Amino acid sequence: MKKAIFYDLQGTLGGEATASIDSFAPYPFAKEALALAKNKGYLNIIITNQSKISKGILPLDVYLREHDRILNEFNSDELLIDEFLFCPHQSSDNCNCKKPKTGFIDQCAEKYSIDVSQSYVIGDMGKNEIVLAHNAGCKGILVLTGGGKDSLGKFRSTWADYEADMIAENVLEAIKSI
Ligand SMILES: [Mg+2]
Repeated sequence: MKKAIFYDLQGTLGGEATASIDSFAPYPFAKEALALAKNKGYLNIIITNQSKISKGILPLDVYLREHDRILNEFNSDELLIDEFLFCPHQSSDNCNCKKPKTGFIDQCAEKYSIDVSQSYVIGDMGKNEIVLAHNAGCKGILVLTGGGKDSLGKFRSTWADYEADMIAENVLEAIKSI
């Protein structure tokens, strides 16, 4: 069976936690982290919540243009990203893909024969990525970039029943330690 790392996008691989997608730029260490994960035998899968699409704040075509730009940026030197999945829904849509729901992880686990117990979710929002890790049976790493520090501070109550398996300075430090 394969193993995978499921990454959040904004605040984890680059950009800011809640900023507009068209301002997204990868952190300087993001590609090194993704390459290191590949060398350690992991599939690299990005899962991002983009509820601004269903709320009508972010037009789908604008999002898709940015999605392609970001994917090309990560994959420009070598193929670092295996899947890049986005959820356009808001909570009231009752989808199964909006983090912390596990739809995308379940789908990838089936497609690639991934052992989720040997896999990780890495993100800067405890209520999304750490709860997702728990729901999917993966290990969860909270990074301190983006909204990570606030997740441990003023937003800790939004995921009070959960604990990260690890807290890392950033995604590169996270990959180094797994
Ligand atoms: Mg984030």
